[in-house]
Amino acid sequence: MKKIKLLLVDDEKAFLDTITKRLEKRELDVSAVYSGKEALAEIEKNKAVEVIVLDVKMPEMDGIQTLIELKRKAPLVEVVMLTGHATVETAIDGMKLGAFDYLMKPCDIEVLIGKVKGAAAKKREHEEKITEARIKEITERRV
Ligand SMILES: [Mg+2]
Repeated sequence: MKKIKLLLVDDEKAFLDTITKRLEKRELDVSAVYSGKEALAEIEKNKAVEVIVLDVKMPEMDGIQTLIELKRKAPLVEVVMLTGHATVETAIDGMKLGAFDYLMKPCDIEVLIGKVKGAAAKKREHEEKITEARIKEITERRV
């Protein structure tokens, strides 16, 4: 299976850098940015991103605003919300807005990887269905 392309978005630089290093050692292709604005720029630039782990609490653009914009720009990209105890409700709101799942901070690396893999599998399956539907449409048109 090809490496999962993951984008991490969190304003806590030290936390993000640590987690990025740990994830790079695994079968993941990781990039990291520190704000919602940068996340939006990154998905414009890097169309291969499959999964985004997105912090809920960030200055300027928060996680929910970022999620809405991300889903508008790249509807098939799967998002996992990253939250502290105080903002669990916001993470749940995120799921209503199309996030795949949420994770509590501080997060266990294995749990994080598990959710990222689940999200990537969902995205790949979704894209496969779209491809199949396109092929079907083309084939039926020819008959
Ligand atoms: Mg934060």
